Amino acid sequence: MNVRADVAELLRAGLSDRAIGRELGVDPIATVRPARQALGIPKSKPGRRPTATPEDLFWRRVKPTDDDHMEWTGHHGAEGTPLLRHGGVLHTGYRLAFRIANGRDPDGYALPSCGREHCVKPGHHGDRADRAREKRVDALYADIFGPSA
Ligand SMILES: [Zn+2]
Repeated sequence: MNVRADVAELLRAGLSDRAIGRELGVDPIATVRPARQALGIPKSKPGRRPTATPEDLFWRRVKPTDDDHMEWTGHHGAEGTPLLRHGGVLHTGYRLAFRIANGRDPDGYALPSCGREHCVKPGHHGDRADRAREKRVDALYADIFGPSA
């Protein structure tokens, strides 16, 4: 049978059928149980709930590029935004990368600031405050050196 990659991943992480159903919005009996059998993964023991954080899932969905950036191997939303679902919450790869690099949530949206489209390498994103600072620096340079061509 064809096992969904995200189902297989959470099965291997040790989540229960029900937890996986909740996490991914799939039917635990129709989808998760047969996948578990197909992969030969024993039923999860109650009371032991391994917690894969969104950051854990992030690292399983990134691939370093030759030019020192990272691309997203997971789902993409509109305009190619890297997306990750965790506990029924949709995260963007940008936001998670920002959190990993800065240890805090971004102010407003986190967006790549390295010039490579859809880059998800932690440290390559800015938030609203960063963009405002950049704008101020640009304006300062323009004041000193004149507007750039
Ligand atoms: Zn980058």
